[in-house]
Amino acid sequence: MRLADYHIHTPLCRHATGSPVEYARQAEAVGLAEIGFSDHNPMPQSFDDWRMDLEQLPVYFEAVQEARAAVSIPVRLGLECDYLPENVEWIRQLAGMAPWDYLIGAVHYIRPGWDVDNPSKLDEWDKQPVDEVWMLYWAALERCIRSGLFDVIAHADLVKKFRHQPSIDVREFYSGALLAAREHDVLFEINTAGLRKDCRELYPTDAFLSMAQQSGIGIVINSDAHEPLDVGRDFDLAVAAAKRAGFKGVWFLQNRQRCFQPFDAL
Ligand code: ZN
Ligand code: FE
Ligand code: FE
Ligand code: ZN
Repeated sequence: MRLADYHIHTPLCRHATGSPVEYARQAEAVGLAEIGFSDHNPMPQSFDDWRMDLEQLPVYFEAVQEARAAVSIPVRLGLECDYLPENVEWIRQLAGMAPWDYLIGAVHYIRPGWDVDNPSKLDEWDKQPVDEVWMLYWAALERCIRSGLFDVIAHADLVKKFRHQPSIDVREFYSGALLAAREHDVLFEINTAGLRKDCRELYPTDAFLSMAQQSGIGIVINSDAHEPLDVGRDFDLAVAAAKRAGFKGVWFLQNRQRCFQPFDAL
C-alpha cells in the first residue's frame, strides 16, 4: 500500500536525529507515496527547548527543498503547531509565512510550563488528580480544533502517553473533540509514535477511532518520526486499526487542500 506520512520532524527541533534527506530516502525505501515535514513551530520569542527559533525558519524551508531534490516522491511542507489560547494570532501569522501544504494542530501544553508528554516533567503528575489533567487536556484539544487554524489534529489522546488512566468515562471527551472536528472540517491522524512510548498504543485509541468513523471524520496515517527509521513505521498496524474502525481510506494533503484515497486504490 502506497501511503503518505505527513508528520516528520527535523533536527531543528533539537530532539530529532538525521537529515531531512535521510528521512526522505527512507520514505522512498519503504515504499511511501509521499511525505511531508511538520517540525515543531517556532514561537515569536524563545519559549522552550524543543523547537526551532524563528530565525531558523528559512533553514527549515531549505532543508525541505534539499529533501525534495533528493527523492522522486512528493515532499510536502507542513508544521506541527502548538495550540495555546494566547498564540492564536501568532499561528495565524505563521500560516501566512510560507506556502504550507498543511498545518497540524497539537496540544502538548495544558498550562504554561507543563507539556504533558515531556518525560522531564513527570513530577507535575503528582500535583493534580489524573482525571483533572485529562479534563484540562481534552478541553484544550477541543479549543485547538475550534480555532479553525489546522488541517489535521496530532496524536489526539497524547495525555495517555505515560499510562496515566483516568477513572471517569472518557467517551464524553472524545465526542466533544469529534463534534468540534465535524464543525470545523478537521482531520485526525493515526500516529504510530504511541507504539514506541510507555502507553504502547496508537494515538488515538481504537474507541476514539470508531467514534470518529461514525461521525464521518477523516484520517491520515503518520509516524511522528524523530529519526529516519521511524518514517512509515508500523503503518501496517495503523491501517489495520483504521479498517477495524470502519475507515475505507485516508486523505492526501497539498496546498491546504485534501483528496480522499481509498485503501483499495493505494
Ligand atoms: Zn518532537
Ligand atoms: Fe507532538
Ligand atoms: Fe511531532
Ligand atoms: Zn508530535
